[in-house]
Amino acid sequence: MNLFYHSTRSDDQTVTSKQAILRGIAPDGGLYVSDGLGKTQLDLAEVCAEGYHPIARRVLSTLLPDYTPEEISSCVSQAYADNFDTPLVTPVSPLGDDWLLELYHGPTCAFKDVALQMLPRLMSVARKGEGRDVMIVTATSGDTGKAALAGFANVPGTGVTVFYPEGKVSDIQHLQMVTQAGDNVAVCAIRGTFDDAQTNVKRIFADRELAARLDAENVMLSSANSINVGRLVPQVTYYFSAYAQLVQHGAIHVGDAVDFCVPTGNFGDVLAGYFAKRLGLPVGKLVVASNSNKVLTDFLTTGTYDRRRDFVKTISPSMDILVSSNLERMLYYLTDGDCERVASLMGDLATKGCYSIGADLLAKLRETFDCGYATDDQTRATIRDTWEKDHVLIDTHTAVAKTVLDTLPREGRQRVCLSTANPYKFSADVLAALGTDVSGKSGFDCMDELQALTGVQAPAQLSNLRSAALLHQDVCDMDGMAGFVEDSCHRIFGQGR
Ligand SMILES: *Cc1c(COP(=O)(O)O)cnc(C)c1O
Repeated sequence: MNLFYHSTRSDDQTVTSKQAILRGIAPDGGLYVSDGLGKTQLDLAEVCAEGYHPIARRVLSTLLPDYTPEEISSCVSQAYADNFDTPLVTPVSPLGDDWLLELYHGPTCAFKDVALQMLPRLMSVARKGEGRDVMIVTATSGDTGKAALAGFANVPGTGVTVFYPEGKVSDIQHLQMVTQAGDNVAVCAIRGTFDDAQTNVKRIFADRELAARLDAENVMLSSANSINVGRLVPQVTYYFSAYAQLVQHGAIHVGDAVDFCVPTGNFGDVLAGYFAKRLGLPVGKLVVASNSNKVLTDFLTTGTYDRRRDFVKTISPSMDILVSSNLERMLYYLTDGDCERVASLMGDLATKGCYSIGADLLAKLRETFDCGYATDDQTRATIRDTWEKDHVLIDTHTAVAKTVLDTLPREGRQRVCLSTANPYKFSADVLAALGTDVSGKSGFDCMDELQALTGVQAPAQLSNLRSAALLHQDVCDMDGMAGFVEDSCHRIFGQGR
């Protein structure tokens, strides 16, 4: 079967999955989708007997069929061989009466490693056909940036430029980024929010003059944000892997439905759960958990997506997002592939700041998705309760999901709470949630105290930052971002080749 991709906003131009991965975003501003989704299903009984690597190979070869089996195999073994600190890659462990899917065992201690250790390999294979250098440009709310830097550092033929909102990421996240080594990396703080940064990155991708100048130098821009198909597809694997582990633990039988609760920002992680469902995973409900930037809770409750609201800075900064880009893909599948409708909804979002999908589509959406949100106070209470009752230390993002999960009735299904970051990535907020006064303490003071208090070991990837050199100090305004990208291309790839 051949499976082509096209934009969510028009279907007259199709590309292969390799091209979709290289380009990141479609020329008309839409996201790449495939109408083949769900036409081939995975063999569940076989998957349930397998470990992470074979499951990843099945998922990738189904959704990215123009990669050869050899290419897929080599990408999977490079991405998941030694870079994760457990052979299970994403282990499942008990969390009270539910399960915790630990997605933070990669090099940067956040779930984004699962996709961002894979994407550079997929791009490297895809670019063989193009022969051009690829500059990855990424806006980050905290975790993507470091995961992209770690994934792309020193990958030949690629460079990576990361923008993060100044003062809106944790101490540790900040240090993770500004200490990143590698000849092909660039890091810049911007004066604004993550949404501002993301909007401007989209503008940079749409800038035809910039693209033409870079093209003359044999450089193309691409994205490592979760709008890239190559980010989304690897995340589908851990839904299947979690399910297989539950079968192997004897918690479920093959075929039983399972609920997943997902701490959500850009809608990428939870959309991967929807893809898993379309590929044949027995999913009960996918629960979309938000923090106080609860634009998705409101959307899933009323059918109206409305970004016209104040942006709230929370203790789960990777979910501080008002425009959930990947929702556009969900709208495409929800409308059975109605590109015109999607384009018009996205037009409303751009011009009016809101759109409505109507009662019928909302009802259809709610067949799969449930939702809820947690305030910072509730999130802190959950971190404390989970430690005291279950002796499990969870980070602020995971705690948002756990809070929401605890409010929902158990419908006789096993439930999996996705854990998206190691708690030490947010040491100060986690320590404060446990009742310690953290005022005036550095991220490392908090890390030490949290370790002494709980006996849970901080991961070496984070404690090693203590002695790392600060390499990046650039700060720019929104209108300086395009210039920063162009300068980085010149520095990394050399001018006028
Ligand atoms: C990025 C991130 C999220 C949100 O994931 P989306 O795919 O944007 O929904 C949640 N938690 C953590 C720790 C993250 O880094």
